[in-house]
Amino acid sequence: MFWSKTLIPTLRDDPGEAEIPSHKLMLRAGLLRKLSSGLYTFLPLGFKALKKVELIVREEMDKAGAMEVLMPALQPREIWETSDRYKTMGASMFRLKDRQQRDMVLGPTHEEVITELVSHELNSYKQLPKTFYQIQTKFRDEIRPRFGLMRAKEFIMKDAYSFDIDINAADASYKAMYDAYVRIFERCGLRTKVVEADTGAIGGKWSHEFMVLADTGEDGIVECTKCEYAANLERAERAIPSPIYFPDSEKAIEEVATPGMKIVDEVSGFFKCDPKRIIKTIIYLIDGNPAAVCVSSDRDINEHKLARILEAQTVVLADAGTILKSTSAEVGYAGPVGLKIPVYADLGLRDCKGMISGANKNDTHLINVCAGRDFQPAQFIDIGTVKENDLCPRCSEQLREKRGIEVGHVFKLGTKYSEKFNAIYLDAQGQKNTIVMGCYGIGVTRTLQSIIEQSFDENGIIWPLSVAPYQVVIDVLDPKVEKCMSVGLSLMNDLEKKGIDVILDDRDERPGVKFKDADLVGFPIRVVVGARNIDAGKIEIKLRKEKKADLVDVVNAVETIYNICKT
Ligand SMILES: [Zn+2]
Repeated sequence: MFWSKTLIPTLRDDPGEAEIPSHKLMLRAGLLRKLSSGLYTFLPLGFKALKKVELIVREEMDKAGAMEVLMPALQPREIWETSDRYKTMGASMFRLKDRQQRDMVLGPTHEEVITELVSHELNSYKQLPKTFYQIQTKFRDEIRPRFGLMRAKEFIMKDAYSFDIDINAADASYKAMYDAYVRIFERCGLRTKVVEADTGAIGGKWSHEFMVLADTGEDGIVECTKCEYAANLERAERAIPSPIYFPDSEKAIEEVATPGMKIVDEVSGFFKCDPKRIIKTIIYLIDGNPAAVCVSSDRDINEHKLARILEAQTVVLADAGTILKSTSAEVGYAGPVGLKIPVYADLGLRDCKGMISGANKNDTHLINVCAGRDFQPAQFIDIGTVKENDLCPRCSEQLREKRGIEVGHVFKLGTKYSEKFNAIYLDAQGQKNTIVMGCYGIGVTRTLQSIIEQSFDENGIIWPLSVAPYQVVIDVLDPKVEKCMSVGLSLMNDLEKKGIDVILDDRDERPGVKFKDADLVGFPIRVVVGARNIDAGKIEIKLRKEKKADLVDVVNAVETIYNICKT
């Protein structure tokens, strides 16, 4: 390919719309252009790199035994009613009507479509197991699209769905996909961390996320400093140290006037105590019913964990009216003692003594509060957020926090969807059983951008060979000098014959401009063809990730470059 024939609109300066390095570089290197918020056009180089990521995904899915299909992005409302997700997907799902005024959606995911299909097509144990996948455009009406392809309204995903006779067989399908994901991200040149994750809107019992570690990542994760434990903060657990106990704290409970002190800082300032000693009590509506949730004030309540443990569909903060009705006090004075609504307390509060809490009475707090003696929650459950230096739930060593970009997510779904769509098979004895499912996603466009987020320097992108739009750029320094151009051309032809993607910079530009653009776009191998070296029978080869260039005999150039590409 000739540079002059394609479109690579590089930019010298950082575009104002971009905040993180990979987004800036995709725009500056001419891979992407924005149409409107969260919507991007892939230019020739960006599209070429995207196709390479897709090819890796496709090869590994095929190798793992998955079958490629293609499902409609446009879907009827009815299947989303069947799964009970038409409501719960909320405003993030694009909804529209066709000309007959039928409600339609643009699919953010495809559990409904595939399970509906399978309920008709698979009905005997002899047809199982099966795993289907597709690489397709998905839609999500993000509140705040940002970071380019990281959080876009339209994006490309690989989604796969497995169907098995029972849990054990489903575990094997899950493992096959998990292993394929490890290989896919490795081949893309990514360093990923696998973490335990919340199942969120997809549902199911268990899931893992593949995270690209990056300071700019939107997800918080914790990992153990000693063992393999790692989890998304939405899911993370902690070992609970010995109960919170303050000396001299078994005195009788006592009311103290705290006029106007509603927030933790004010209360801890007034009592001159560690926030850990104060019980924070938040009133929620859990599936519509008021309940009090308590945690020590040095941490927050993790609503994801709360919803999962209580198997609640919705967990929302109660309004002021509900709080007044439930606690007989204004917002800010709730406490677990004497409440008539259910109380759920974090495990860290078990056997706590000598605590301070709201008194369920305006302008008043209680001191010397002891769990068990003064209040007995419906349940002590693990609902506190996890922080740096908390203890690992597996080995009790310290945890540390990291940021990550979620590029893949695998779920054990169980029978959540197959029950709703009546996806049943007959076993060898002719008995009806429900098919057991798993689902597996890779954000393909997000993976592409994550590769850049993990691999760049001050001059631009550093593509891994496996996904670079072109592995080799040939800079012919003076395209008008015939002997230079003919060496450049024959190199390009010979390398292309060997299946290597080559771009030849034939622009009539100064060498400095060509080198800058080559570095910015990040081609892994740069070949410089200059008149003086050609006279000595040499060309220059430089790897993007290294500082130094090598002079190579023209006659050996193809083999040398080919060998670099194949390592
Ligand atoms: Zn550990």
